[in-house]
Amino acid sequence: MTKRNLKSLSQAELEAFLNSLGMKKYRANQVYQWLYQKGAASFDEMTNLSKEERQSLNEKTYISSLVLIKRQTALDGTEKYLFELEDKNRIESVLIPDEERLTLCISTQVGCAMGCRFCLTGKGGLKRNLEAHEIVDQVIAVSGLLSKRITNIVLMGMGEPLANYDNTINALKILLDEKALNFSNRKITLSTAGLIPQIDKLGKEGITINLAISLNATTDDIRNKIMPINKKYPIKELIAACKRFPLPKRRRITFEYVMLKDVNDTKEDAERLCKLLKGIPCKVNLIPFNEYSGCEFKKPDDNNIERFREILIGRHIMTITRKSKGAEISAACGQLRGSN
Ligand code: SAH
Ligand code: SF4
Repeated sequence: MTKRNLKSLSQAELEAFLNSLGMKKYRANQVYQWLYQKGAASFDEMTNLSKEERQSLNEKTYISSLVLIKRQTALDGTEKYLFELEDKNRIESVLIPDEERLTLCISTQVGCAMGCRFCLTGKGGLKRNLEAHEIVDQVIAVSGLLSKRITNIVLMGMGEPLANYDNTINALKILLDEKALNFSNRKITLSTAGLIPQIDKLGKEGITINLAISLNATTDDIRNKIMPINKKYPIKELIAACKRFPLPKRRRITFEYVMLKDVNDTKEDAERLCKLLKGIPCKVNLIPFNEYSGCEFKKPDDNNIERFREILIGRHIMTITRKSKGAEISAACGQLRGSN
């Protein structure tokens, strides 16, 4: 008999399954807490279960965990983790320390199907979706290696989270659940290339995490070229979806804008961007393009990036230029591809 992965069960399924093993309802709660709050790796640790119960679980189930293949630390403190999944596929997560914040950037797919021209993850296409537990296990695995608590989570690693909708939502629920990982919804950010139907669906989900949109261009002409998904969901419709997204009070949508030299970095782009964002409570993250070998794009000069930023600031749009992190270990945005 193949053993069941306990982490592949929802809380309700866990309850039913433990019940089928003759265990009381409150045991499901305890096991759930061991799995997600205490990050238990074995049944021996579950000291409030009886010996027989632990044995029975051990015979019929197992607790999945990611296998750490490689951990790299950059000079700026950024860490990149390469993990192997049960089917030997590999994914990456990145830890970014920044003053009092400790942000973990996690993957939602092995590869990505969106094919953005500037993104290394997109180059290899999509291998498969991650299961909810594989998304959550990145947080559990990295937490287990650290002495400090992870404060923020961003779904900005490999993959398009909204293209793996159900698993991503189930993972978010576990990350947010106070009986599980207990993150605040203000500390989790999901980034999307702009899948409009799923953005609308997310708005009705009742989980008020932060939303980030990878906009990256101000005309359909250019966005079509660098982000093929734009042909399906063009800028005007994407902006309309952002306007109707039910934002909690004092929250803002983040717009990510990868700065590509001579592609989307002109004064006119900055002005069009201001127009597009008018009326949306938002902030803009300018991401200077991270170059990699063989890439067809260049990073604009710092002066150009600063000039672009000043135009936005001049129109009262909160704008920061994201510092490139962990460049020498290829941990920066769009450089993850899960290979060794
Ligand atoms: N698929 C989602 C989540 C991944 S986030 C999304 O695209 O939003 C990855 C972020 O890094 C995106 O904002 C993307 O535009 C950006 N990015 C990709 N490749 C990059 C590169 N080479 N340099 C800088 N930013 C890049
Ligand atoms: Fe996929 Fe995002 Fe990379 Fe585009 S930028 S290929 S959506 S991971």
